Amino acid sequence: MTFVVVGGGPTGVELAGSIAELARHALTSDFRRIRPETAKIIMIEGGPRILSAFPDALAGYAQRALGRLGVRVMTDMPVESITADGLTAGGRFIPARTVLWGAGVAPTGAARLLGIEPGPGGRVPVGADLRVTGLENVYSLGDVAACMDEDGRPLPGLAQVAQQQGNYLGKALRSELTRGRSSAPFRFHNRGNAAIIGRHAAIFDFGRFRMKGYPAWMLWAIVHVVLLVNFAQRIRVSLQWLWRYLTYRRGARIITTPVVRRPV
Ligand SMILES: Cc1cc2nc3c(=O)[nH]c(=O)nc-3n(C[C@H](O)[C@H](O)[C@H](O)COP(=O)(O)OP(=O)(O)OC[C@H]3O[C@@H](n4cnc5c(N)ncnc54)[C@H](O)[C@@H]3O)c2cc1C
Repeated sequence: MTFVVVGGGPTGVELAGSIAELARHALTSDFRRIRPETAKIIMIEGGPRILSAFPDALAGYAQRALGRLGVRVMTDMPVESITADGLTAGGRFIPARTVLWGAGVAPTGAARLLGIEPGPGGRVPVGADLRVTGLENVYSLGDVAACMDEDGRPLPGLAQVAQQQGNYLGKALRSELTRGRSSAPFRFHNRGNAAIIGRHAAIFDFGRFRMKGYPAWMLWAIVHVVLLVNFAQRIRVSLQWLWRYLTYRRGARIITTPVVRRPV
């Protein structure tokens, strides 16, 4: 039983870590004929190292943490093809029935819909006020928008970018409509990048300040609970997480034995 996760970004790292924890802890006593803890979990990364957006030291920690969970990380292996029997990466065939894609998403064809030339990465080019380049009164924000930072690099496709742009644009449009005033250009304030590897293992990069291991994992959990929409959700999720933390149980289960219905 081999699981291959393609892509060594935060999504791939989180996915590989979760599969490893499910296989080695949560599902160990759920099957009669298979032993989930013997599953092979392989992460394939096309670049020279995983988590390229993070500093070397944090990425190295994450790779070691994955190794402790039994995940084999293979770098410099760009994926060439995927079939029902496995995948070919870096000229090598790896047999696997389950291949999970964590190597990025492509933008929708919004630029084409607007009849304009796509910007970097096929996204919609926008100015510092989020107005679509070359169009009047059309704005674009979030993942689909190619918005540059002060150094001329495209902002990453992250929820915090999308949220800050949403807040900015709402206020900017209100200011323009009610007071006829244009706003200062949009500036992204990076609140930190995080990747979670598994239980007690995460990394946080705040620029000058970095965290890893248990404190980073705890901070990740607190941030996610605090950002939930209301108090009831925060309590519900906190209790669910506490239960799963104490019992290693997960909510989802697959029933593989067919149910035999006897006539009454
Ligand atoms: C697996 C994964 C993990 C991620 N983890 C993180 C993370 O930990 N932290 C983080 O900050 N970011 C994370 N992100 C990125 C984050 O989800 C995005 O940056 C964020 O959702 C962007 O918000 P958005 O509103 O621009 O786009 P979306 O959230 O994608 O919303 C776009 C919406 O538009 C709809 N839509 C698309 N095309 C059309 C159309 N033609 N007509 C009508 N509706 C349409 C879509 O169905 C969707 O509902 C992750 C992304 C992925 C894929």
